[in-house]
Amino acid sequence: MPDYNSREEFLWNGLEQLSRLPEDADPNCPICHERYSKGTWAESREEKFVRIRSCRHIFHTACLRAWISEQSKMDCPTCRHELYAGDDASTFILQLGQEVVQLVTNTQQAADELVTSQEMMINRLNAEIEDHRRRSEHHEALIASLKETAGACLEGDKQTDKDSSS
Ligand SMILES: [Zn+2]
Ligand SMILES: [Zn+2]
Repeated sequence: MPDYNSREEFLWNGLEQLSRLPEDADPNCPICHERYSKGTWAESREEKFVRIRSCRHIFHTACLRAWISEQSKMDCPTCRHELYAGDDASTFILQLGQEVVQLVTNTQQAADELVTSQEMMINRLNAEIEDHRRRSEHHEALIASLKETAGACLEGDKQTDKDSSS
């Protein structure tokens, strides 16, 4: 079980600022592996110590801040004790983002499918129009040839009439 529900809660309540390094403390910072300065007092602003309340491990304040804020670690660098639970808000936003991406993908797919089915319909209509056009061309040709035949017959009849009259 983590000590706190969020990083903020841990940073506010889970740490103890030390101005003096305790006698029994490890002489090296477990994060940067640098030896704490000779004196046990935090003499410079740069060298401040912080202690995690629950497991009582000590680090440079700057080192622990970097560990938590920059590396987003949620456990103690020394004993791996879980300090705080994962940030619910960021997890929620991450999930929401993934859902939005999924939704956009689905919408895109649906739109693509719609376009495809419309294209297919248009192609089929075009094919039918082309078919009708070809058939009507054929009919026109047929009519033209019938007319020609009929014309020739009439012509032939006239000719026959002339022949018979003369
Ligand atoms: Zn350090
Ligand atoms: Zn610890």
